[in-house]
Amino acid sequence: MGYIEPAPIKDKENPFESMMSRFNIAAEILGLDDQTYNVLKSPVKQIIVNLPVTLDSGRVEVFEGHRIIHSNILGPSKGGIRYDPNVNIDEIKALAAWMTWKCAVIDIPFGGAKGGIKCNPREMSQGELERLTRAYTQALHSVLGPDSDIPAPDMGTGQQEMAWVMDEYSRAVGMTVNAAVTGKPLVLGGSLGRAEATGRGVMISTLSAMEKLRINPFQARCAIQGFGNVGSWASELLEERGLTICAISDISGAYYNDKGVDIKKAIEYRNGNKGTLEGFNGGERIENDELLLLDVDVLVPAALEDVITKKNADGIKAKLIVEGANGPTSAKADNILVDKGIMAVPDILANAGGVTVSYFEWIQNRLGYKWTSERVNRRSDRILKDAFNNVYNTAILHNVSLRIAAYIVAIDKVAKIYKFRGGY
Ligand code: GLU
Repeated sequence: MGYIEPAPIKDKENPFESMMSRFNIAAEILGLDDQTYNVLKSPVKQIIVNLPVTLDSGRVEVFEGHRIIHSNILGPSKGGIRYDPNVNIDEIKALAAWMTWKCAVIDIPFGGAKGGIKCNPREMSQGELERLTRAYTQALHSVLGPDSDIPAPDMGTGQQEMAWVMDEYSRAVGMTVNAAVTGKPLVLGGSLGRAEATGRGVMISTLSAMEKLRINPFQARCAIQGFGNVGSWASELLEERGLTICAISDISGAYYNDKGVDIKKAIEYRNGNKGTLEGFNGGERIENDELLLLDVDVLVPAALEDVITKKNADGIKAKLIVEGANGPTSAKADNILVDKGIMAVPDILANAGGVTVSYFEWIQNRLGYKWTSERVNRRSDRILKDAFNNVYNTAILHNVSLRIAAYIVAIDKVAKIYKFRGGY
């Protein structure tokens, strides 16, 4: 099989450094002592596994897998597993730390972790993906568990992979443990509302921020980068709330329609077109980079890391950025956005809807009970609205951006709990 190694992205800022530079600002404002600073910034555990997997051709390929547990101070560590050819340790380290801050900012009792396998899932068969997922779970089963480390989907993985993780973990421990992983299929203990949860959280964050900025949803124009699980759900839910979605995009390019892209049609098209928007005629074809610079009120980057950088931040016209993706804005772009008066709802708050409903899935599994979608949505909306207001008030109190305020809320919480728990 073999996949083509994508060219490295030039001038990409190191995501771990981006995370640390915000952490440092918040730690300074909080007056964090050196010892707590060192404990909070250092990942608890970093595991690399090499996974020999037989491909359909009969050839054995060795895949590199990672699991990084950044923190378990607040509770068992929580975070997705990413399948992508560009997976690397610095990225997973940053993503794991972001999970710690995300869970802390929304006040759920989890620490942070992230996993990844360097592979190209688009070029792998179901059988190959299953063997790879099982090999990864088997290699890590002593680390995973409903009270220790709980995976979930991330880029390149979904409910089928989570079902394999749950099954392989259950075999390893000799009993069915569905709370060991979240984002599972509904019939296997998944939660109602989990599929749309991240997009729904983006919608809640967008409306909360628009209220503060006094932007009327029915007069607002919005561009959304990324049309995967997060971007497409966010598009649909924001359209339902009255926003005009002028542009959407995926790896095939961006599609612009001044009057608004018909999101239901776009989703239908993508579903019948092997998951891509390639050839979609509901909008004029533009470049993905152009989408970020459109004259809109709201911009939702819901695809990759590091798309808003010091190179293009100055050209952004949106008044509000809501980060559906993890790490879409590099630290070097932060001040440019602040200087331009653009409000950015940071990833660790804006996309926290996913892990919120993961938390509900874990609770339901442990109770052996199922919640209605109304209960799931009502409770997750409340958690996200409260977290938004808390971050917003913290930003006013310290006269900082929402991003730094979110780090302040998160670090303060983890530091306080660390002090109570203590150490050696
Ligand atoms: N991968 C998602 C995230 O980055 C979800 C994590 C989870 O549900 O544990 O937030």
